[in-house]
Amino acid sequence: MLTAIRGFKDILPQNSLLWAVIEDFARLTFRSFGFQEIRTPILEKTEVFTRGIGEHTDIVEKEMYTFTDRNGDSLSLRPEATAGILRAVLEHNLHKEAGQIRVFTLGPMFRHERPQKGRLRQFHQIDMEILGPASPLADFEVIWMAWSIVNGIYEKTAQGSERPDLRLEINSLGCPSCKPHHREDLLIFLENRREQLCPDCQRRSLSNPLRVFDCKLEQCKNALKGAPLLRNYICPDCVEHLKLVQDALHAVNIPFVINPLLVRGLDYYSRTTFELISNELGAQGTVAAGGRYDGLAEQMGGPHLPGVGMAIGCERLLLLAEQWAEQQPVYATDIFVAAMGDKAMQTALPWIKELRKNGVSVLMPYESKGLKALLKAADRHNATFALILGESELQGRKAVLKDLHSHTQTEIAFESLLPELLDILKIAKRTSNNAWKP
Ligand SMILES: [Zn+2]
Ligand SMILES: [Zn+2]
Repeated sequence: MLTAIRGFKDILPQNSLLWAVIEDFARLTFRSFGFQEIRTPILEKTEVFTRGIGEHTDIVEKEMYTFTDRNGDSLSLRPEATAGILRAVLEHNLHKEAGQIRVFTLGPMFRHERPQKGRLRQFHQIDMEILGPASPLADFEVIWMAWSIVNGIYEKTAQGSERPDLRLEINSLGCPSCKPHHREDLLIFLENRREQLCPDCQRRSLSNPLRVFDCKLEQCKNALKGAPLLRNYICPDCVEHLKLVQDALHAVNIPFVINPLLVRGLDYYSRTTFELISNELGAQGTVAAGGRYDGLAEQMGGPHLPGVGMAIGCERLLLLAEQWAEQQPVYATDIFVAAMGDKAMQTALPWIKELRKNGVSVLMPYESKGLKALLKAADRHNATFALILGESELQGRKAVLKDLHSHTQTEIAFESLLPELLDILKIAKRTSNNAWKP
């Protein structure tokens, strides 16, 4: 039997509605913050990522799906969204048109990591970037977006009134005038402790010293005790920047903690960085992460273009939504037409056309089956009503409408069938308390 690739997962019909709920909600939220959608290709020249992410990173060194195509070009599946978006912005000169670029994108990313719960090789992200402003309020707005989407999904799915168990951690990574001093001292500190570090960290300590703080191994955590901390090196401008982010978060009541150990390994990251972490997901608890990257556009061969962005991990948000929700959203059909015989089916077609035009979901299986089998099928399609049309109904020019929830039924004359059905459906929609209906 043919199977999917390890770490690549099918999203089946019974789960796809939850995806749609999350994606629709994210789109609505982005729109309310004045963001526009951008869609870049999944495949880029490998150079986009070696320059946009950095050659000496785990992503580029170990995790990218890279291959040579038939022309001999090295191409890679995107492992994240920002580099491709930056490439597109610079290529199309978007930064020269508008004063401020506010874009989002949703879609799959690819990394060859060890698959585990909440981590796949094809995973999905909700990503957003603000390019242009260097203001701390842009950093704040990115955090606010992440917070709004994750909390909004909680409010949409969970019935309780409590807040979700989320922790927002923020930190400043400094700027080109203060960061290098820290790096120098950290390099000296790590040089003296090289033997105590794991092989990965020994390598990182030379190419990318800040990444050592990301290591989860006890031996490395111990070796780092007493390491020079970035916060002791931050310049007054960076302190002020972070303070304004905090003030803004207070202004809209978003709780946060400052985590001085929260770092990003890449040089082009500067100032604000953040993570939104759930305690309900175990070790893979980061639902959203982002930060400022003022040096990235230059690194990719463009002009100086300040930027800040974030990404939400869809699989993790989905896991949370599944935990929060009392029930999963399910596809529902408003009317299942149980027409028996060719003549009955033909009679129903003009009604079906009108109902669908009115936004009613109607399903008629084009199979000649008995009523019992048809009603069973209606249940399987989660139909609210069955419209029964057989030989005797055709003769009497009346259809039978069966309410599949209350099991009551009424007869409706063909002449007034459409207006009556639409009326009944309006009432049914009003009384159905399905918070999930997208
Ligand atoms: Zn600084
Ligand atoms: Zn380590």
